Amino acid sequence: MSKPIVAVVGRPNVGKSTLFNVLAGRKISIVKDTPGVTRDRIYADVTWLDKQFTMVDTGGIEPESKDLILSSMREQAEIAIATADVILFVTDVQQGVIDADYKVADMLRRSGKPIVLAVNKVDSFKKYEADIYEFYNLGIGDPYGISAASQLGLGDLLDEVVKHFPAGSAEEEEDERPRIAIIGKPNVGKSSLINKLCGSQRSIVSNIAGTTRDAIDTVVKFNGQEYVFIDTAGIRRKNKIKEDLERYSIIRAVSAVERANIVILMIDATEGVTEQDAKIAGIAHERGKGVIIAVNKWDAVVKNDKTIYEYTKKIRDTLAYMPYAELIFISAMTGQRITKLYELIDMVIQNHSLRVATGVLNEIMAEAVALKQPPSDKGRRLKLYYITQVAVKPPTFVIFVNDKELTHFSYTRYIENKIREAFGFRGTPLKFIIRERK
Ligand code: GDP
Ligand code: GDP
Repeated sequence: MSKPIVAVVGRPNVGKSTLFNVLAGRKISIVKDTPGVTRDRIYADVTWLDKQFTMVDTGGIEPESKDLILSSMREQAEIAIATADVILFVTDVQQGVIDADYKVADMLRRSGKPIVLAVNKVDSFKKYEADIYEFYNLGIGDPYGISAASQLGLGDLLDEVVKHFPAGSAEEEEDERPRIAIIGKPNVGKSSLINKLCGSQRSIVSNIAGTTRDAIDTVVKFNGQEYVFIDTAGIRRKNKIKEDLERYSIIRAVSAVERANIVILMIDATEGVTEQDAKIAGIAHERGKGVIIAVNKWDAVVKNDKTIYEYTKKIRDTLAYMPYAELIFISAMTGQRITKLYELIDMVIQNHSLRVATGVLNEIMAEAVALKQPPSDKGRRLKLYYITQVAVKPPTFVIFVNDKELTHFSYTRYIENKIREAFGFRGTPLKFIIRERK
């Protein structure tokens, strides 16, 4: 199920990060501090009542001068328009409506995207009621008075946000064609790969029904099978600030990965694997997508008989949290191993939705337990009663045990490896849920 994306846009100091942190709660994304950037959270999963969505914070580096505020806000708005299902525009009641707010409001309104207007720092409704009305002048609908710091008015705001979620995601669900997101740093070769994957055939570029995002979806027919490639290359940023560029590439990746079944993570062979690659890969991992790591520009690397081994080791070390990912060395320019890449895509798609019968699973678990005793603590030993697969995309298993406290991450990993030995599951993460049965 693809989760809606809500993008937060607003001037510096109106309280965007405060709001973001409050709504994100403790569920912080793994994206870590970039040196020099105080705000570390770029995206987060939010649950409101029965609805779940991904929130992204478009606010990047604070502009150094006042003149730059408007252009930086325009950039934020652009990225929000391109990636979000709903835009949350945050303003500040204590500063009132300023000129830049009008300009950005105009831009957002023209996009036709659903916009929710939050007026922050309403620490007292009595005191600020009249001031909130002033924000009707922006012409983007009802202003919602909130206080992010005191957590006031957030329920009404979220009710309004979730009202705008597209109902059409069911259509996307019914679409049986594999959806593949191509993600990676700027200039890694995403556009080149899309072009190569299309080959000489005419490709149909379309907006798939059921999404309000502007992702460019390319439908490609290969060996009689249709594939939908979700491109994140789209917008070229004018912004030259490195941190901002990185932020945008992460936001675009989040938006594309949400809609995909599997992900091709591109790494630039001429630069080697970097922290930025690890951050982007983390998005696919957290969301349980199938992953193929494509090391691109392989043509441009001077190679000896050890090169491929050295690259493999470095990548496996840096992306140690995804040992299941498939690895392939390609050239989007010369077309090297593009056919092989299609084969990998087919395999990973299959594995990502593979179901294993309960009987066989329990045989494997019983055998594994017989080979290696489960851990024990203070004379009590972990007992594994039963295992069953409860979901696909990614394959998810529930193991019933006598006492959850006794389970150990390394033993679950051991069971996972036994299942992988038997069924492969190459390219896909597996999820394990431990339940107690008295
Ligand atoms: P951002 O630049 O838009 O991300 O803004 P921040 O979240 O960093 O907040 C800017 C300043 O406004 C900080 O000093 C916050 O403590 C303050 N602030 C945020 N929310 C509220 C609020 O609801 N009421 C008041 N009075 N101050 C707030
Ligand atoms: P994107 O920003 O990720 O979409 O990257 P592009 O597809 O625009 O490629 C960025 C640059 O890398 C361009 O100059 C491409 O010609 C070059 N490039 C892309 N793929 C390859 C490749 O496989 N080998 C080499 N040598 N250059 C490549």
